[in-house]
Parts: sequence; structure tokens; C-alpha cells
Amino acid sequence: MRILQNQHLEAESDAVRQAMLLQMKMNQQHKRSSETISERQTRLEQLKVYQQLRLSAETEAERRVRLEQLKMNEHQRLTTETEAERQVRLEQLKMNKHQRLTTETEVERQVRLEQLKMNQQNRLCNETLVDKEARLENKKPRLQAETLENSLSRLEQRSSRLAKKYVSKQNSSNRHIPLLNDEWEKIKFFHESMSSIESLICSICLEHFPGTQMAGNCTECRLCFRDKIIPKLFSAENNMSPAS
Ligand SMILES: [Zn+2]
Repeated sequence: MRILQNQHLEAESDAVRQAMLLQMKMNQQHKRSSETISERQTRLEQLKVYQQLRLSAETEAERRVRLEQLKMNEHQRLTTETEAERQVRLEQLKMNKHQRLTTETEVERQVRLEQLKMNQQNRLCNETLVDKEARLENKKPRLQAETLENSLSRLEQRSSRLAKKYVSKQNSSNRHIPLLNDEWEKIKFFHESMSSIESLICSICLEHFPGTQMAGNCTECRLCFRDKIIPKLFSAENNMSPAS
């Protein structure tokens, strides 16, 4: 009997609570529909201050609960939204992002990029093999659908990013980036050295490497000169000349 009563009370209080919430929501909507722009701004400003206060006072556990709740709400909203709502949401997101990016200072930009990088690194470090496979699998349709032009520009961006990364790595490890002049001197030195080397050709094995040493005044390299068996081992007659 008592259990029944309790259940009854619970059901009743739940219904009362729902009714009160609905009433509050309607009151709020009515108030909002008649508020002026400045009243609205004041209200939003107050809300922001209140939210900041609440966030700064919350414990780690409360924070986790709040984020989990947010995630669930978001998931709920996303799974029930219509295509039109989705379009509106994406358009709004795009506009917000554009607004944020165009008004951010250089410092804010640096902080944002640094944060992005850290998030990405964290995600990659902590991902399991299954996560990784899912990530790569998700990427596939996008890669398959991209045009040649997009693909080229993506690869170009990637290589310029890597080049930048390489240079900044070199800078951070205090190594000198070779100057273009310096490089040019090295190349010139290489070509001059190469052209100063006499390149003789062995008449038997046709060896033609720079610095091939001939036997005395002979037209044969030392190896062929020492080979006294006819036909010589590395000769064309023996079908063993490496150059023929
Ligand atoms: Zn030879």
C-alpha cells in the first residue's frame, strides 16, 4: 500500500513538475517575443556572465558530467533533425566560424592553431588500432570522390606543410639552412671536379669510369692487361664485356 502511494506521489510530482516546466517555458517564450533588442542583449550578457561564473566554480567531476550531458543532447538533436534543419545548422556553423576567424587577433590565431595541433596529436597518440582503421575507412569516400584538381591541391598543401615543418625543425635544432649561394658553389665544384677527371676507355672490357687506370701506355685497363688468356674474360669475344 505504501509502495503504491509512493508511486502515486512520484507520478503526481513528476506530472506537476512537467506542467511547471512547460508553464515556465511558455512564460519565457512570451517574454522573449516581446523584448526589445537592448533587453535581449542585456539578457544574453547576463547569461554569459552567469555561465562563466558557473563554469569557473565547477569541479572536475561536474565538468565531466556536463560535457557528457552536452554530448548526449547534441547526439539526440543530430539524430532527430530534418535535412532542412541540418542545412540551417551547417550554414550557421559556417557563418560563426567565418565571423570568428575574421575577427581573431594574431595571438588568438596562434593559440587556436597550437590547440588544434595538440588535439590532433593527442587523438593520434591515443587512438586504438580499431579507431585508426575507422578513421582511415572514413577518409576513403572523401578521397575517392575528390577531383584531380582537389587532389593535387591537397598534396601540394601537404608538401608545403611538410617543407615548413622541416625548415622549422632545422631552425629549432640550431642547424644552418644551407644558403642558395653555398649550394651553388658546391654544385659548381662538383662539375669542375668531374670535368677535370680524365675518362679513358678500355679497348677490351670497355670500362669507362672516371679514373680508370690503364696499364702503362696500353689501351687496356690493368685488369684486362693482366688477363693473358685469349679470348680475355671481360671481352666482347667471350660475351662477357659488361658494356657490350
Ligand atoms: Zn678492361
